[in-house]
Amino acid sequence: MTINPLDGESQSPAFPIESYNLRMTTSTAHRRLWIETVGCQMNVLDSELVVAALRRQGWQLTTSPAEADAVFYNTCSVRQHAEDKIWSALGRVRQEKQARPGLIVGVLGCMAQKDQELIRTRAPWVDLVVGPGQLHRVPGIVEEILAGGPPRIEVSLDRTAGSRDAVTKSFESYDPDRDPTMRPTPFQAFIRTQTGCDKFCAFCVVPRVRGPEQARPPAAILAEATKLVAEGCREITLIGQTVNSYKWHDGGKTTRLADLLHDLDSIDGLDRIKFVTNYPRDMTPELIGAVRDLPKVCQYLHVPAQHGSDAVLTRMKRGYTIGEYLEMHARVSEELPRAAVTSDFIVGFCGETDAEFQTSVDLIDRLQFKNSFIFKYSPRPGTKAFDRQPDDVPEEVKKERHRILLDTQTKASLAGNLPFIGTRQTVLVEGLSTRDEKRAVDPGPDGSAQLTGRTSCDRIVVFDAPMRLVGRLVDVVIDAAGAWSLSGTVADGLAAAVPLPLATDGACGTGGCDGPGPIHQIAPRPER
Ligand code: SAH
Repeated sequence: MTINPLDGESQSPAFPIESYNLRMTTSTAHRRLWIETVGCQMNVLDSELVVAALRRQGWQLTTSPAEADAVFYNTCSVRQHAEDKIWSALGRVRQEKQARPGLIVGVLGCMAQKDQELIRTRAPWVDLVVGPGQLHRVPGIVEEILAGGPPRIEVSLDRTAGSRDAVTKSFESYDPDRDPTMRPTPFQAFIRTQTGCDKFCAFCVVPRVRGPEQARPPAAILAEATKLVAEGCREITLIGQTVNSYKWHDGGKTTRLADLLHDLDSIDGLDRIKFVTNYPRDMTPELIGAVRDLPKVCQYLHVPAQHGSDAVLTRMKRGYTIGEYLEMHARVSEELPRAAVTSDFIVGFCGETDAEFQTSVDLIDRLQFKNSFIFKYSPRPGTKAFDRQPDDVPEEVKKERHRILLDTQTKASLAGNLPFIGTRQTVLVEGLSTRDEKRAVDPGPDGSAQLTGRTSCDRIVVFDAPMRLVGRLVDVVIDAAGAWSLSGTVADGLAAAVPLPLATDGACGTGGCDGPGPIHQIAPRPER
């Protein structure tokens, strides 16, 4: 798996915006699919589910578009840069399609919903255009195209094209059964709590392209979590555009995110629960209490502030003041003194003055977020800001403000990481570090490589260890800290961290039974 920050704007190597390819090779594959995923975790999950559905129809993933029978792009419309990337890719795939007319080219996700007809006129070689509310149709459409059917556009209703009920119905939640071999790591999974968004921030295209907010029933979320854990999943991340706005009414009972966390926390075999992304006003005392009291819930809260100025927040239609954000942050700090709070910021929003920009710098200085994703404002057709507020901050000024805010955050992140030196942290081991993945290191299961994992407060830790630690919780003593990661040494020696033979054999190897911290068996990693 390759995870690359898409536009170099966010300084942290993880979400929210990234581009990543799901890849798998097989010599026996009959029909081969290549899919590139751009955007948020929701897209990552959508790609996982589409690929799993196509695998059931005999498709296999391939490593290169050149040898694929179908090339899909799961797209993002949050910023222009994400769209430009797809337009360029569509230009490149045109030659491939000319050489091999049987190649199926698909555009899925948010751009498909937003630019449906434009894609057909600018890139008529695209065979299927399928919005995020219609993904369940992909396998059927692919079969029809293979059988000689015409190109297809399957999208949901525009938000203004009908009653709320009609528009809502046209965005169908796509949550079929999961295939553990399709996840980048079988021991981690995203679970959708709700689709769509009703916040309508002035800058944001998400409510338009992902439709009205719709909660999934709690029973479906719990059943999915239970099944995932039975398949070897150790960490679940609940995802929603504003996950903490989750609300499900059933008879006289209302279920909120805090209630879901209580239920998930009692699933045996699950180690960690995370949830993203939070809306500041919905950070209720009940939710903060659940994070405080439930041992499996990670003390990591992504709560985007977006800006430090009340005037800009008003123009952004964010629905809260900085005073309210500070009050929320103070409650979090009091109840959860160890929690890592992270944020998103937009620089160069319509009319942003130097003095207004400075308030964002001041907010980072004051609250010392663990990290922040920092974006230059990108006007999005179909949003209130696009229609009513001129994009009047010059690109050069946006760039400079981006640099300054990033510098401020980098200092805060480093200051937050330094106190970890000398401490012992429990880390869920995720795989090769970016360094060793770039070097294509293949140490085999016993050989040592530089691995990466995360603490429960979402800090990245790198350390040398054998690949068989992947998927396990291990303790690492931190010996160095940078702004974006920590590095360390597996605590108590590797022998104690890796029980051999596995406990399922009914025997304990060197140090296995007495080893430090919880160590778990996981399903074997799929061949990739
Ligand atoms: N609701 C989700 C997805 C929003 S997009 C979430 O909160 O994660 C993620 C981030 O992209 C937002 O928090 C915002 O900081 C940024 N963003 C959204 N629209 C943008 C735009 N038009 N220009 C620049 N950044 C934008």
